[in-house]
Amino acid sequence: MFDTHCHLNFQAFEGRVENLIRFAKETGVNHIVIPGTDLPTSKKAIEIAEKYEGVYAAVGIHPHHVFKIYNARQRNFLSQRGPLRPESEKNLLPSLSKLLTNQKVVAIGEVGIDRHYYEKTKHKDYKVDEEFVDLQKEFFIEQVKLAIKYEKALIVHNREAKKDVLEILEKVWEKKLEGRVVFHCCEPDEELLEFARGHKMFIGVDGDLVYWKQKQEFIKKVPLEMLVLETDSPYLSPFRKFPNEPKNIAYIAEFVAKLRGITKQEVVKITTENAIRLFNI
Ligand SMILES: [Zn+2]
Ligand SMILES: [Zn+2]
Repeated sequence: MFDTHCHLNFQAFEGRVENLIRFAKETGVNHIVIPGTDLPTSKKAIEIAEKYEGVYAAVGIHPHHVFKIYNARQRNFLSQRGPLRPESEKNLLPSLSKLLTNQKVVAIGEVGIDRHYYEKTKHKDYKVDEEFVDLQKEFFIEQVKLAIKYEKALIVHNREAKKDVLEILEKVWEKKLEGRVVFHCCEPDEELLEFARGHKMFIGVDGDLVYWKQKQEFIKKVPLEMLVLETDSPYLSPFRKFPNEPKNIAYIAEFVAKLRGITKQEVVKITTENAIRLFNI
């Protein structure tokens, strides 16, 4: 089995990574991709991936983390009217692209657009206005280009921002991306599925499937050849328990199998093959 999206690089797992990877492997989850959400977590993902066989890293700036840059810009602008690009921001994408030469880095991710208003965030004064979304778009576009340039897979995060995400993907799309992009934790939406089908993308499904009826109906319609499994640990536990962990891929596989009236082995085989193709492992 393959957990295509698992944040073993997050604070919640500090000191427990080795055990969680062992439990996962004992359950048959032999491949894990750890996505970054900013520069430190991207580096941490690589650090973990380098230590364990079957564990890979993705590097990227998550839309949520673009807020920090947005905030710094605003402060700069208000206090002295420029420079609009603080030093740390200027170096961010070049530093990220340097990580892409690492053997264990298989993807850019997770990147995209997020219009959801988060109650719980480490960023004070978090708000989603158009200017912030514009900056998210800039980062998304630049990072899609990195995936193309370095021939990496692309892990797309979309939350309540379908229109923006599809517009951008359509605009910057290159044939090279076919078979190399996943809508991670895909929202149950026909238009996303149609776009994914047309562009030979994959659809990521998580443990929230277990308690989300609309998602169950959606996943029934996704061709198996397009489906990959993910836990998004420490979030989205199928048992509504924090933290989630990679071994729970087995439970998601079983749930998908029951939902579609096929065997768990069939789900496991096809989704694992899909993920191996997606990340070119
Ligand atoms: Zn995400
Ligand atoms: Zn994630």
